[in-house]
Order: sequence, then C-alpha cells, then structure tokens
Amino acid sequence: MEAKIILLPGDGIGPEVVGEARKVLTAVAHRHNHTFHFTEKMMGGCAIDAVGDPLPEETLGACLESDAVLLGAVGGPKWSDPTAKVRPEQGLLKLRKSLGVFANIRPVKVFPALANASPLRPERVQAVDIVFVRELTGGIYFGQPQGRETVAEGRSGHDTMRYNEEEIRRVLQIGVELARGRRGKVTSVDKANVLASSRVWREVAHEVAAENPDVEFEDVLVDAMAMYLVNRPGDFDVVVTGNMFGDILSDEASMISGSLGMLPSAALGAGGPGLYEPIHGSAPDIAGQGIANPLATILSAAMLLRSSLGLEVEARVVETAVSRILAAGHRTADLARSDERSIGTQAMGDLVVAVLG
Ligand code: NAD
Repeated sequence: MEAKIILLPGDGIGPEVVGEARKVLTAVAHRHNHTFHFTEKMMGGCAIDAVGDPLPEETLGACLESDAVLLGAVGGPKWSDPTAKVRPEQGLLKLRKSLGVFANIRPVKVFPALANASPLRPERVQAVDIVFVRELTGGIYFGQPQGRETVAEGRSGHDTMRYNEEEIRRVLQIGVELARGRRGKVTSVDKANVLASSRVWREVAHEVAAENPDVEFEDVLVDAMAMYLVNRPGDFDVVVTGNMFGDILSDEASMISGSLGMLPSAALGAGGPGLYEPIHGSAPDIAGQGIANPLATILSAAMLLRSSLGLEVEARVVETAVSRILAAGHRTADLARSDERSIGTQAMGDLVVAVLG
C-alpha cells in the first residue's frame, strides 16, 4: 500500500524519538512491500521560534491531507511562561480539534519483562491490560465561557464543563467497539454524584449499554477509579471517560507500567487522519543526550499501522519486536535498574529494526 505520513518531531526529545519510529516504519515498509511517503513539518515551540505560530497553516494543511500524523512532543521551559500569548500546547489543541480526533486511545499494558519496574507489586500488575478511551475535544478544556477577571475579592478564574449527548455517545461507542475485540467490558467513569454534565454522561452511557447488551457495562465514580487503579488494576478492560478525568486517570495508570517512555497513544475521529504520539512530554531534562526511550513512539507507530493504515500484521510485528528486545534484557536508562547496563535511543531503535520479523 501507499500512505502519506506526516512527522511532527516537535521539541526536546521529540526529534530523537520520532527519528527512531521513522526508522522502524521505513523498515516495515521495505519488508512488507509498502510505500510510505514521510514529510516532516514544524510544530510546537520550534514553530513559535521560527514563525511565531505553534501550528503554522502549512503544517496543519499537510496533516489534513495525510493518512496519518506521528507527533513527538511539544513544549519546554523556553516557552512555558504562563503569561505568554502563544504557547506550544495551543498548537496541539488546535491540531486535535482540526483533525476532529475526539477519542484518545491509550493502552496500558505491562510487558512481562518490565513487571519489576512498576511501583506496584509484580503480582498486582501482571494481568494489567487496560485501554483508556478519553474524550479529547470537549469538556472543561474547551467549554466556554472560560477566562479570568479581577473582582472585589481579587483575582478570579473560571472554566465551563459541558458535554452534549452526541459527544458522549460517539466516544462510548468507540469504547464498545474496542471492548468487542478484547474482553468485552466497558467501565464508564464520571462524577455523577456532583456534576450535572456527568449525570448526562451517565444517562447516555446507560442508553449505549442497553443498545449493546453483548458488552458488559459498569459506572465508576472518578475518585473511586483513582483508588481502583492502584489496588485492582487487573480488573479493567476498556475505560471510557471525559477529557479532564481521562487526562488525570490515564497518567496515573501509565505509572503502572513503570515508565512513561513505554506508553503510546492514538487520537481518532470519524474517518480522517489519526494522530499518534507517545504520552510523555518533551523531557527537556534529557533532551539532546541520546538517552530517551524511543519505544513509546515506536509503539505509537504500531498503532498508526493498525488503526490508520489497517496493517494489523505489521503492527503486531513491531509490538512483538519490542517485547522480544525487552525480554532479551535491553533497557534504556529510564527502564534500567541500578545494576543493569543501559543503551541509548538510537541503539534501541536499531535493535527493534534488527528483530522485525
Ligand atoms: P515529560 O513527560 O516530558 O517528563 C517527565 C519525566 O519523564 C522526565 O524526568 C523525563 O526525563 C522522563 N521521560 C519522559 N519521556 C521519556 C522518555 N521517552 N525516555 C526517558 N525518560 C522520559 O513531562 P514534563 O517534564 O512534565 O514536561 C516537559 C514538557 O513537555 C513541558 O513543556 C510539557 O508542557 C510538555 N508536555 C508535552 C506533551 C505533548 O507534547 N503531548 C505531553 C506532556 C508534557
């Protein structure tokens, strides 16, 4: 097959990890007779420096015309002044909105070879295989009105949490479809005991549950979910929730696997190009040192092969290669115990390429 893939390396370690994912995708294309056309574009802090805009029109246009977009990470101390008018994250929010990617898919799986790296006891994490589906383009991160003002009592800020039933239904439906290909269970997370928007969420969740009786449904309050992820993470299959709850819970869940450097994500919408990125940020503390773990980005590339290009076999080939390398004991610095030798970003990428089936 032929596919147009836009690469947005971004800032910090972004270019280092995207470079390795590109290497892996190129090797997959070569071995399985596909042609992938890669185009690199600017986004994030580097784009602010170059043209004053975190998501230049040219970058957005190329993304909209592509089959899939692979992003590294954006941001860093240079652009994090809270009073700055333009910030790298604005580019990311605009890109998600423009691509119409309303569902963020984050698998959290513990590779057997890394069970010891989890802060939880190995026997508690061995069975963990969760897919988070976070609503990505609505809720409190986008609700209007939003702003700040000075009132008689001093500075004041406000945000609006709003969900309509269509936004809730379509993201729950993605959860249902994912659950069907897995263990058949959806956990819908809300705060219906306090929030009106969550009470609408729960009503719609019950309607979706009734329409899909082959899938097991449960509701869990977000505060309880924060506890369950620590004391019984193996009980969950697909977890569907709103934008802010999903942001926080999926970061909590990511710690189960032991390293941010291992976790991929996909943002999907209704048929347009998907957006794939590691869940970690630009890691300015290690940028430019050649020690970042590229596996989260490589696993994001595997999700891209599966969900945007329909190449399931090739996706599995990449995931199996990562598993084999970890089982053979290879570790980047973030994964290595103090008594283990670590390898650099490029060496890890080269190993994945070398063991691709
Ligand atoms: P971070 O994820 O960049 O780093 C947190 C810690 O994890 C750091 O110690 C870092 O060295 C380590 N780490 C992260 N990825 C790693 C990898 N692949 N290999 C090895 N170690 C890794 O989070 P942060 O420090 O809170 O944020 C840094 C910048 O990234 C901020 O400007 C933030 O806004 C931005 N950020 C961007 C995104 C995105 O682009 N989607 C997401 C989160 C944070």
